[in-house]
Order: sequence, then C-alpha cells, then structure tokens
Amino acid sequence: MEGNNPILILTGFKLILYIFAQQYLKMGIYKKTEEFQPEAIDHLSNHVKGMLQILGEDTSREGLEKTPSRVAKSLGFMTKGYDEDAVEILKSALFVEETNEMVVVKDIELYSMCEHHMLPFYGKAHIGYLPRKHITGLSKMARVVDVFSRRLQVQERLTMEIKDAIQEALDPLGVAVVIEAKHLCMMMRGVQKQNSSTVTSSFNGEFLNNLATRKEFLNVISTKLS
Ligand SMILES: [Zn+2]
Repeated sequence: MEGNNPILILTGFKLILYIFAQQYLKMGIYKKTEEFQPEAIDHLSNHVKGMLQILGEDTSREGLEKTPSRVAKSLGFMTKGYDEDAVEILKSALFVEETNEMVVVKDIELYSMCEHHMLPFYGKAHIGYLPRKHITGLSKMARVVDVFSRRLQVQERLTMEIKDAIQEALDPLGVAVVIEAKHLCMMMRGVQKQNSSTVTSSFNGEFLNNLATRKEFLNVISTKLS
C-alpha cells in the first residue's frame, strides 16, 4: 500500500475514526484531573512566596495573597507527567488489527515548559505509525503527548520520547512524530522573535528507511481535510 494518495489511505471505518478523533481533540473532552500532594504544594508555595519577595513584591497585598499556592498547584499540574507512564496508557487500549495502513493523528494541541527558562512552549504534534500487528485508541496519542509535555522539556527530546513510547508499546513498522511549537522564552525575552516557530521531527523504521512512506506522512499532515 506504499506510495498511495494520502486521502485514500484513510478509508471506511478508519476515516470515520479519524474524523471522530479530530473532533474529540478539538473539543478537548479528555479528563484533566488535578491531584496534588498537600505537603509538596505547601513547600513549593513557600518558595514561590520567597521568590515574589526577592522580586520586590509585597506578598501580603490582596492580589498576591493566594498567588503562591496557585502557582504551586499550576506547576504541579504542568509537571504531572512525571508520574504517568505513556507506554502503560497506550497498552491500555491495544487492539489486534491485520492492517499495515498508515494511521495518522494530526494537530494534537501541545503545551509544555522549556527546561531552560521554565517558560511555556506550545503548538501542535502530528503522529503517524504503520501498524505491524497492534493499533491503539486514537485518543491515547493525545494522552501520550500530554504525558511527555507535562514535564520540563526541550522540544527535541519531547519529539523523541513520544516516538519511543509508541514504538515500545505497539511495536509498529515505524513511527513518525513532527512537532511545531512557539517558545515564549524566545518571544518574551532573549531574541524576542515573535513569529518564529520551531519544527522538530523524529522518524524510525519505515519512515526512516522508505522515502515514499515519509513523504506520504508529511503529505497527510500538511493536507487540510476540511
Ligand atoms: Zn527556553
């Protein structure tokens, strides 16, 4: 099936699944739970309070009263990926499927924090794989992106970690991940380049060895269906 027109790759049931996944991702229904360890949050709040004071703020003024604990909780949420296992998540919805047609989930929203400045970077991830024997639930791809995004990251490593987790869980013939993101550390400070975005990619297996397969994937992610 290599070298097919990308529009023909997603036919019948798979196309319906694909469209459903796109809608699902857009609506962002997947659960965002907030679980915090009170002790860690308290400890972190104290540090945030100290930081505000060093910056010259009056931490007793009304607007800042609850800021330390809010910041601590939001940091807790944005780094909760450390406690999550992407391979487990993918394996929790593993199906045997005799297909070797490319599966692509594109435009997955992504929010992460750069490990150099602890400032956000955000954008989209596009993931493709060629099943060998197993496929996984499409929404699991979005969860894998979250698991690795909700850590201190660099975009290059994030891209590879997503690819490696899919490889380990599904043992497909190949995995392709492309991420395009804007980095606030470049936009708000430093070189102050507002319109630049960074694109990283990571391929293995068929996507690395077979130029036609790689092109097919890149075509699918750059084609607008609607
Ligand atoms: Zn940075």
